[in-house]
Amino acid sequence: MDFQEQNISQAILENLGEAVIVVDVNSRIQFINQAAEKLFGYSLQEAVGKNFKIFFHEPLLGWHQEYLDILQSESFRKPVLRESTGMRRDGTTLPLDLILSKMTTQNVSFLIISARNALKRKTITEQVKYQASRDPLTGLASKEFFIERINTILNAAKKANQMVGVVCCNLDRFSLINNTLGRNIGDEFLEKVGKRIKNCSREGDVISRFAGDEFYVLLPYLKSPNDSVGFSNRLIDSLRYPFIVEERELYITASLGISIFPTLASDSDSLISNANLAMREAKKNGRNGWKLFSIESNIKTLDSLMIYSQLHGAVKRKELFLNFQPIVDARNLTLKGAEALVRWTHPELGKIPPSDFIPVAEETGFIDAIGKFVMMSACAQIKAWQDQKLPTTPISVNVSTPQFKSEKFVDIVCEILESSEMNPELLHLEVTESLMMENVEESIAKLKRLREYGIKLCIDDFGTGYSSFQYLKRFPVDILKIDQSFVRDVVSSAGDATIVSAMIDIAHRLRLETTAEGVENREQMLFLREQGCDYLQGYLFDRPKTSEEFTQLLTDHYSDRWKSLLQKEAS
Ligand code: C2E
Ligand code: CA
Ligand code: CA
Repeated sequence: MDFQEQNISQAILENLGEAVIVVDVNSRIQFINQAAEKLFGYSLQEAVGKNFKIFFHEPLLGWHQEYLDILQSESFRKPVLRESTGMRRDGTTLPLDLILSKMTTQNVSFLIISARNALKRKTITEQVKYQASRDPLTGLASKEFFIERINTILNAAKKANQMVGVVCCNLDRFSLINNTLGRNIGDEFLEKVGKRIKNCSREGDVISRFAGDEFYVLLPYLKSPNDSVGFSNRLIDSLRYPFIVEERELYITASLGISIFPTLASDSDSLISNANLAMREAKKNGRNGWKLFSIESNIKTLDSLMIYSQLHGAVKRKELFLNFQPIVDARNLTLKGAEALVRWTHPELGKIPPSDFIPVAEETGFIDAIGKFVMMSACAQIKAWQDQKLPTTPISVNVSTPQFKSEKFVDIVCEILESSEMNPELLHLEVTESLMMENVEESIAKLKRLREYGIKLCIDDFGTGYSSFQYLKRFPVDILKIDQSFVRDVVSSAGDATIVSAMIDIAHRLRLETTAEGVENREQMLFLREQGCDYLQGYLFDRPKTSEEFTQLLTDHYSDRWKSLLQKEAS
């Protein structure tokens, strides 16, 4: 290179704007331009003669030798692109985009490394990514980004057992604004609505506009479903004030739909679609309000929601347990068995009665888990009594209709029975009449299988449903439980007395035994005995007892316990 040539090349190198390092075949730096001085913090004088590795972060040096090898080879012509990590003089590192090329002058080859700070490129890619994640009109999250976020948050929430809410917010009669004032005003208006929604949210909430006037808000980590209601109320409130768009005062209301993970939806799709369905319900209900999504229209209240959200962990946290209510033989008032009744004591909410949480569990499908827990606990308890050589009594376990309908129900029961190693004849199952009305054949088949196993079957709450003896005839059941609503007035109401005595009579003709529930006083007991009712259950004998109390009852020669009731009868 003559001087002229060298100056021209140098001028080019300086003006490239990129850091350029010229390296000879011995890895020595021959030249760096000003951009390289700036980028790496070495002056030209300092750098020249040093190994070019000083510009690179050690662990990533593998390619240097490889490259120098290529440099020696004749065939190498085309520049190579590489990503690497550079090292500044002060020891800090930076991502680099490199172009490696070979230059040969007068039979001497040089490696030309031009380096660019990749940080800038990265931020550009990130910017593009960011823009793709935004709704261009409002600057809120795009639909795609929103869904991506839900999925991430749900994964975390599943692990941490946390609740997540999604609120769908659709403006009421927005098309009026669009159609009368034009799209521009409409757009500006939407942007302002987006800001209001944002002002109502907390840090970490994600707000998105899917399309038109439909916004979605993701509320991660709810402490209770109430939080999502709080947000919805705040939003509705904040929309009360007029929007000023091009000096016009505009008013709008919105309809909101809420869905909650895991209680009312299990994944991002269902969270979004359930929130949308609930929003439509809110519109039907007269707009300008919110509505919680409900699986059955029964879950309307927050109470049920609260129950379900708490129920989720109740089994795990061992808050559920069984009580046992004695059932006595009507002839001699000796213990005949017991009904297992589930109890739930929540650490903060206290005792929650089964009539509050069983329906919620049935509606949400959680009854399967509870039912299984009850069955397992009951069987384990029977086995424990068996092992303690205590007098054995059959235990009745309640089975809800949705639980019975589950395909796996019979298998689950049989599995539990087998693993508990108890005598299957000690297990009674209580099902309700509603089974007789739906899937009759299927129900009969299931009942038969259970019965073949040795399990006895009771029809619970008889008289409250269709009370069809016609159907009853076809059902392979053993015991009819007369609902307490008939027993209550059996002494005072001639009508109820007639019904109860007819029930007992027909049941006997169908070779069914009868149990009267809710026997609270002696008069009721006397009447039922007179009518030939086989078994009695109610507060007159005992309230539901804890398993310890019931064990005590078994240990204490239970047979004498209710004799005094008969003695009074004799006197
Ligand atoms: P049920 O099957 O009819 O249970 C009898 C209910 O009557 C029990 O209420 C019991 O405590 C109550 N009871 C018993 N004797 C008397 C009495 O003399 N007077 C009055 N007034 N009530 C009496 P509990 O325990 O609150 O259960 C209510 C319902 O919850 C049960 O009605 C049953 O349908 C459901 N349930 C309870 N435990 C379970 C369970 O483990 N699984 C399922 N699926 N349902 C359950
Ligand atoms: Ca029952
Ligand atoms: Ca009952």
